[in-house]
Amino acid sequence: MTHEHLHAFESIDRLSTVELRPGNLPRGHVPHLYAAARGDGEPLAYRIAFALSALEQARVAIFTGVVIPPFLPLAEIDGPIGSIVLARALTLLGHDVDLVVESCEVEAMTQLTALAGVDGIAVVDGDGYAAGSAADVAIAVEKISASASGVRHSVLGTRIDALDPATDGYFTDLLARGALTIGIGDAGNEIGFGALQEDVERILGEAATCRCGCATGIVAATATSFALPAAISNLGAYGLAAALALVHERQELCASTDLVATLIEAASDAGFLDGGTLDPDFHGDDGVPLETIVAFVHILDAIVAQALRDVAARPF
Ligand SMILES: [Zn+2]
Repeated sequence: MTHEHLHAFESIDRLSTVELRPGNLPRGHVPHLYAAARGDGEPLAYRIAFALSALEQARVAIFTGVVIPPFLPLAEIDGPIGSIVLARALTLLGHDVDLVVESCEVEAMTQLTALAGVDGIAVVDGDGYAAGSAADVAIAVEKISASASGVRHSVLGTRIDALDPATDGYFTDLLARGALTIGIGDAGNEIGFGALQEDVERILGEAATCRCGCATGIVAATATSFALPAAISNLGAYGLAAALALVHERQELCASTDLVATLIEAASDAGFLDGGTLDPDFHGDDGVPLETIVAFVHILDAIVAQALRDVAARPF
């Protein structure tokens, strides 16, 4: 495959995998997870955006939300914000989007999603969703996966029991039916990484060990058609929105800096926590300050703008 903007998709992938985490989270894995997921192929953002662009008026289900009482009683910033940005872009492309969240998050996510200013995004309760719906495409953004033993774990290996048990099966069933499924994650324990389980185990090494004694570790067992590793899952989702903007040559599909800043501020006010600091007064994502997140979003927007810009030929 070739594409006139291939260099720009490459830049999107590179920017989405720049690590800035603080020292209380694992570091140094993302570039290797990315390399394993990409293999010898074209940039991942390019491949995934093209797969999505082949769809016409599809029903897309985006799953997000991490709840870990008592530390993350409502939601983590990472996942929901990128999901709204991605849902907005897919809606502008004519798709119907179900934003599928944990039961306790429905009300807050409905209010946040309204800030995106588009019609066509339905925020729905994950409880019971899997039984009653079959989307054409499913996307997971920072959605914790079951491991080989069926247990979900935090990135540091603690057991998580609070999440909807049906989510993994939903992705597995869709994948088995040949549907397009996408998993965006940043640690190896999220839905999608099951497609490269052995690579993730090798890359994480000791960090793959869990603290709950289930013996199989934190590595995700649930696979998707595409796994997209990013430095922060939301950043991967912003990158994918930028890739859709490039494929369709529609700049407005990118996340704007205003939208992302507004969403993160509003989410923080609603009780969503930064997963890096767990500090309600820290506004940012995975321990990275909001001003830095906004800078990433600005550069993603600029990558698309520069690629699509008409410029006069240089005369020399
Ligand atoms: Zn365990």
